Amino acid sequence: MNPADSAASPLHVLNEVFGYTAFRGMQGDIVEHVTAGGDALVLMPTGGGKSLCYQVPAIVRHRTGRGVAVVVSPLIALMHDQVGALEEAGVHAAFLNSTLTSDETQNVERELRSGRLVMLYAAPERLLTPRFLAMLDSLNERGLLSLFAIDEAHCVSQWGHDFRAEYLGLSQLHERFPAVPRVALTATADDITRADIVQRLALDDARIFVASFDRPNIRYTIVEKDNPRAQLLRLVRDEHEGEAGIVYCGTRKKVEETAVWLADEGITALPYHAGLDASVRQKHQDRFLREDAIVMVATIAFGMGIDKPDVRFVAHLDLPKNIESYYQETGRAGRDGEPAEAWMTYGLADVVNQRRMIDESPAGEEFKQVQRGKLEALLALAESHDCRRVRLLSYFGETYAATADPGRSVRGEPPWAAATEGSVGVRCGNCDNCLNPPDTWDATEAARKALSCIYRFSQHGGGFGPTRFGAGQLIDVLRGKRTDKVAQYGHDKLSTFGIGADLSDAQWRGVLRQLVALGHVATEGEYNTLGLMPSSRAVLKGEVPIVLRMPREATRGVRKRAVRGGDGKVPAAAADLDAEAQQRFAALKAWRGEVAREHNLPAYVVFHDATLAEMARRMPADLAELGEISGVGARKLEAYGTEILGVLGR
Ligand code: ADP
Ligand code: ZN
Repeated sequence: MNPADSAASPLHVLNEVFGYTAFRGMQGDIVEHVTAGGDALVLMPTGGGKSLCYQVPAIVRHRTGRGVAVVVSPLIALMHDQVGALEEAGVHAAFLNSTLTSDETQNVERELRSGRLVMLYAAPERLLTPRFLAMLDSLNERGLLSLFAIDEAHCVSQWGHDFRAEYLGLSQLHERFPAVPRVALTATADDITRADIVQRLALDDARIFVASFDRPNIRYTIVEKDNPRAQLLRLVRDEHEGEAGIVYCGTRKKVEETAVWLADEGITALPYHAGLDASVRQKHQDRFLREDAIVMVATIAFGMGIDKPDVRFVAHLDLPKNIESYYQETGRAGRDGEPAEAWMTYGLADVVNQRRMIDESPAGEEFKQVQRGKLEALLALAESHDCRRVRLLSYFGETYAATADPGRSVRGEPPWAAATEGSVGVRCGNCDNCLNPPDTWDATEAARKALSCIYRFSQHGGGFGPTRFGAGQLIDVLRGKRTDKVAQYGHDKLSTFGIGADLSDAQWRGVLRQLVALGHVATEGEYNTLGLMPSSRAVLKGEVPIVLRMPREATRGVRKRAVRGGDGKVPAAAADLDAEAQQRFAALKAWRGEVAREHNLPAYVVFHDATLAEMARRMPADLAELGEISGVGARKLEAYGTEILGVLGR
């Protein structure tokens, strides 16, 4: 092989440009296939490393004289940073969208025509203008159109969660440029959506790559709600001090209140929701991306296309709609592959609210039934006492493959593409239930007691149907508390008064939550009054076994047996550095902050935390040693190497 060949080999490009030593999981196969001119559909979870699947082929093909790769993306807000990251790595890239002035646009077009450009990012509406298509025609005639990458490809499908009409026009690409290879990528697509993407983008000859959806570096923790603010504060302050995170809330009001409260507690927290001014939203998003350790308190309006790699935790203060949403939202944690945490707190009120939202929505009964089924699956995940990861993946039709050493995948090569049969009883070793298996108790008898008490609440001396009483009254009566309200309604005379004194408040709430979740108890009206359902009969008869998690007294997520560290703290990139290395790490971060500000880019575009931590740990003696560190490509070594050695005192 002559040197020119090797400079254009995918592995060489990975190493030289991005500073990485090896492809992850399926990346290598995808890159090879696309580089050779094949079409591909790539399904990979968020953080799986989709970008390299088209960036490396684009660079290789450019180096072999095939011209520019066009990257289609709906996320205009991100193009600036994506292009900035490529330019930092020494790859000539540009974007075309509505934020450019006409001068800037002309510059980009000139670079495009010249054939110098390696990658061009464009939104679909821009790409499909007659003017732009004509430019592509002329490039194509000169053999300088190397590749189309269609990011967020699920946007083409009406079945997907984020349909964009502009994406439909992308089928033209195949008709107009049949010889130009295309790679479509997405993190979310069930079977119907997948088939739809293939059909609408005319990807019939494409090879389909489906990576495992496991995110081994994310630790899942779900706790019962018990003073959620205190629980959240513990998470943010004790486990993730000085780290970036997202806190999802169900309403705008709660977003505002939580952000103010966190700020009062001394945490740099910002609100984000669709009700804020566009300029405020933009400002908060920019700060989140560019500064260290911002906690974004947000509705689900925040997050789509946020590719900040070092989000260390995603917290849910309210229940998401279903497992799909939960997985997508939590997937924004730890894209860099470093340990990250997905934490959720939920309680009876969440269950009641979500059910009510479905019941009161204007949708048809059939649709509501599907929504209820999805909610139940999420609740089953929340209440489960076995491995959360096994459940999550099986929901997406995947069998979790246990690794010989469960902690291994946290830092090393994750088993992205692996799958074996039989995950019953398999434990991932990186979720709350695996790390700290909960005790369970048989709540069948307790459920019968609760239902029979609700039966007696009914106005006409017992019966099915609605009552005028809610959870508080029920639990007081069961536990035999003679409150004013209990006495007022003569509930202390009921045969069920005090029959549940042996269980705690928290246990009763758990029983009720489960009964509501499973649809055995209805909650109605402003006061969430309780009522029996037809299906309550079977539970009353003891025909439905109910096994519950024992509520934890200390509701802090996981205390013991962390994968690394042993103190329950999720280890971040720099956690295992000694004191001196920590100082070097801090100095490097300060230096990086200045560079990022100068270049108007987020800090992680300059170097990831993990790369800086490795520099602080290894103390490279010279440029050659520095260049060996993962994430240090040739261009960055040249641009920053001497400065970095200076910061390290070399
Ligand atoms: P996705 O688009 O699938 O969410 P990205 O392409 O943003 O994921 O990649 C996630 C992170 O993983 C990025 O920070 C990227 O630099 C890193 N990464 C991707 N591939 C590799 C690799 N082969 N070696 C090391 N890091 C990688
Ligand atoms: Zn587990």
